[in-house]
Amino acid sequence: ETTKEHMSFQAEAKQLLKLMIHSLYSNKEIFLRELISNASDAADKLRFEGLTDSALYESDSELKIRVSYNADDRTITIADNGIGMSRQEVIDHIGTIAKSGTREFFNSLTGDQAKDTHLIGQFGVGFYSAFIVADKVTLITRRAGLTVEHGVCWESSGEGEYTLETVEKEMRGTEIILHLRQDEDELLNGHRLRSIIRKYSDHITLPIVMKKEEWSQEDNKNNITDEDETINQASALWTRAKNEITPEQYNEFYKHVGHDFEPPLAYVHARVEGKQEYIQLLYIPSRAPFDMFDREHRHGVKLYVQRVFIMDDAEKLLPNYLRFVRGIIDSNNLPLNVSREILQESKDIETIRAGAVKKVLGLIEELSNSEEEAGKEKFKTFYREFGQVLKEGVGEDYSNRERIAKLLRFISTHNEAADEPAVSLNDYIGRMKAGQEKIYYVTADNLKAARSSPHLEVFRKKDIEVLLLCERVDEWLVTNLAQFEGKSLQSVAKGSLDLGDLEDEVEKQEREKETDEYRDLTERMKSVLDEQVKDVRVTLRLTESPACLVADTHDMSGNLERLLKSAGQ
Ligand code: ADP
Ligand code: MG
Repeated sequence: ETTKEHMSFQAEAKQLLKLMIHSLYSNKEIFLRELISNASDAADKLRFEGLTDSALYESDSELKIRVSYNADDRTITIADNGIGMSRQEVIDHIGTIAKSGTREFFNSLTGDQAKDTHLIGQFGVGFYSAFIVADKVTLITRRAGLTVEHGVCWESSGEGEYTLETVEKEMRGTEIILHLRQDEDELLNGHRLRSIIRKYSDHITLPIVMKKEEWSQEDNKNNITDEDETINQASALWTRAKNEITPEQYNEFYKHVGHDFEPPLAYVHARVEGKQEYIQLLYIPSRAPFDMFDREHRHGVKLYVQRVFIMDDAEKLLPNYLRFVRGIIDSNNLPLNVSREILQESKDIETIRAGAVKKVLGLIEELSNSEEEAGKEKFKTFYREFGQVLKEGVGEDYSNRERIAKLLRFISTHNEAADEPAVSLNDYIGRMKAGQEKIYYVTADNLKAARSSPHLEVFRKKDIEVLLLCERVDEWLVTNLAQFEGKSLQSVAKGSLDLGDLEDEVEKQEREKETDEYRDLTERMKSVLDEQVKDVRVTLRLTESPACLVADTHDMSGNLERLLKSAGQ
């Protein structure tokens, strides 16, 4: 006996669905891509669990995805024999529209449709894209390993509620039936569906099958036969030769592995031979995900061993500062039963990881060296989205420190109007004054504060460039980057500020003279301020401001002190 339960989505769901349907409508056929992508993930999961529990296959080991349609019922069905879902999994994954970050998402909506469409894509609405073309969706599923009577039927019209019912399901896996909206009849067409599948899902590794159709003179229409035919190439895209993969195929594969609706910014595809044999296909997204600074972010690089999916988001495959990279690494050498624990210690993984880091840094370097306008624009986008995270690498990845530092870009006093980081450390060194030995920087809470720092006065007067550092990560950066190409980095707000050879003889004498002249005053100020200061000195640093605070060479900078205080330390 079964009962139908009525349940509700979270409060925001209805609004989210409406917005999504509206903003994705012009590209509505992506619903099929998303549902096929999920079916493929479900097959990957079954293959992986099947490695240790072959009973899960239930003597049906030919994994595939079936697409069919019924013109009379006006339905399209996507069925897979993958891992399926238990009742609880349906509630968690299908009944909960947006996992983490829903609130942030809604706050970031602008009301500008073009912008919001980008956001929707970035947010990931996978399964729900079914509602672009359907006004009712029925999902019937049974998890592998559970018995026939543990099937679950979920149904919703995308209006804020859904029903849940326990049903019998003979075949394990998931079947999704789309009841098409009025006016969507053009989708009830074998040609149309086949062309959508070839366009968006050709890269899917397992066969996507449909029933063959034959022209019938008698009925004057196509008749659906009983014979299956595979629509896609059904081979792992990354194993194909580069010149056999089109840019569109690379892009569609990215959308699948990256769970993204937008094409990637750049990618690198390489086969590595030698002691460790592996293939890597790594992508840099066009946009930072919402959860980039969230410790529980998901979807990193996927690990495969000999074409078998092993795990998602294997954090050992790339260091933390490259956590925005998506894609796959397919190893020929690792054991199939590799676990997260084994990965922790594996020397093989270290080799693969070092190789992957090299490739990604190489890809970013390529963008940064680009002479063409389009490439330059790409690097700018990259830096805007991921520059902050890349900076973490200077502290995290010792062996690639210089290489990463070369890729960093800053705002500096060289261009007083700039608000996007464009100055590399090499640019800076190229503009150093004769006798200048150090790379000067100032740290502050924001760009405006950095620009108006009194510490800059003498540098402006002498036309010496100073880097303006105002991101949170910058304090961490300068603590970890003492030097670049033999030049040490020096805060303008620290120490006696030995300008070295940049201070001329006249200035030196003048400072000594004034120090003597004002000794009474500085001594008196020091005794009045007592514990609050270490020292009071005469300076030539200031040209307009009467006084400024400086930190001792080895003390924390004022900015870092403020940051730590605000973090409650
Ligand atoms: P994503 O694929 O980015 O996780 P989706 O909205 O596409 O987001 O899917 C949500 C979740 O629903 C999936 O992560 C998966 O757990 C579950 N799911 C969706 N489709 C299937 C399916 N065909 N088989 C098994 N689980 C599925
Ligand atoms: Mg999905």
